[in-house]
Amino acid sequence: MANSALDFSAFSSSALSAEETQLIEASVAQFGAPLLLLDCEVVRQQYRALARALPNVTLHFALKPLPHASVVRTLLAEGASFDLATSGEVELVASQGVPADKTIHTHPIKRDSDISDALNYGCTVFVVDNLNELDKFITYKDQVELLVRLSFRNAEAFADLSKKFGCTTEMAIEIITQAQQLGIRIKGLSFHVGSQTSSPQKYVDAILACKQVMETIVQLGLPALSTLDIGGGFPVSYAKQITPIEIFCAPINEALASLPQTVQVLAEPGRFIVAPAVMSVASVMGQAIREGKMWYYLDDGIYGSFSGLMFDEADYPIVTVNQDTQCFPSVLAGPTCDSIDVVAESIMLPKLNNGDLIVARMMGAYTSATATDFNFFKRAQTITLNEHENIQTLVC
Ligand SMILES: *Cc1c(COP(=O)(O)O)cnc(C)c1O
Repeated sequence: MANSALDFSAFSSSALSAEETQLIEASVAQFGAPLLLLDCEVVRQQYRALARALPNVTLHFALKPLPHASVVRTLLAEGASFDLATSGEVELVASQGVPADKTIHTHPIKRDSDISDALNYGCTVFVVDNLNELDKFITYKDQVELLVRLSFRNAEAFADLSKKFGCTTEMAIEIITQAQQLGIRIKGLSFHVGSQTSSPQKYVDAILACKQVMETIVQLGLPALSTLDIGGGFPVSYAKQITPIEIFCAPINEALASLPQTVQVLAEPGRFIVAPAVMSVASVMGQAIREGKMWYYLDDGIYGSFSGLMFDEADYPIVTVNQDTQCFPSVLAGPTCDSIDVVAESIMLPKLNNGDLIVARMMGAYTSATATDFNFFKRAQTITLNEHENIQTLVC
């Protein structure tokens, strides 16, 4: 096993470095394929980059895109906070020793057990976006503080989360007024502009709309709101290069600076922290020539680590360990007996042999998290690298 940390920048370039190739081959020799190589050093670098780009914002890592214990431990050591949505996520952070006061629970629609499990752990901040949900907190009113989630539609994002969750500014004011009557404390406002949002203007518009709601609340004589949660959605570069994060965040910081000094700002980044931290490795199980094209059948596919091709529309950069320069139009298919299980329809690849390795970069977010065992093909095993700074570790 290579004993140095993987170069972070190497993950985002396309061809494999000699060091990466050595690591991949050694890992497959030890553990077999398919694999997911999770580099905690990249998690650290991404967290630090976003913390630098949003200097006055508390970052709560949203577990959903990669709920892995090594990621939780790495981020806890960095001083991160956490964003939870389910009792399973509560259990995961609790098992890793995350103090409950570093967590918020942001699922807008909850069962009573979701609320009580989080409260038993010690998480006291929850999200509502409607009056029905507000009523669920009447029995817990002395223990909780709520954020009201607003909706701002975003057709550009991979996932327009404002379609499913969030309320209008008018409804937010109604919820806050009703909470005051019920004696339930409202801590602030939140929104999620949508995952992999390409324009910072979406955040700017949302921040300014929230600022207006905060002003209206004060004018109505309701208690001033102390918190604004600007959600997740921060984008990463898949096959297409996007704006570097510090440039992306500059207008967001400018908008945040117009809020009253007393407002504490939070964010809930998921994808940005983990997407570049994982490389997937699959091997060729078989091949056929169909209609003049080479078809390679891999041991991982759409129902496995590449599930994001369906659920997330991500365009993962794919490379081969075999770096022959002569390439042919090829199809990469997954292992299951289902016809939609195709990873790449039209890709130029060198001539591959059975057992050759196919590597995809940027496979950390919404990949293994949404994988299934369909057709009894086991999910790829995750191998953790560099969990402790400067010490090479290898934990399954
Ligand atoms: C999924 C989700 C996130 C993370 O979003 P990314 O786009 O991955 O940054 C944050 N907050 C909530 C409420 C979510 O549902």
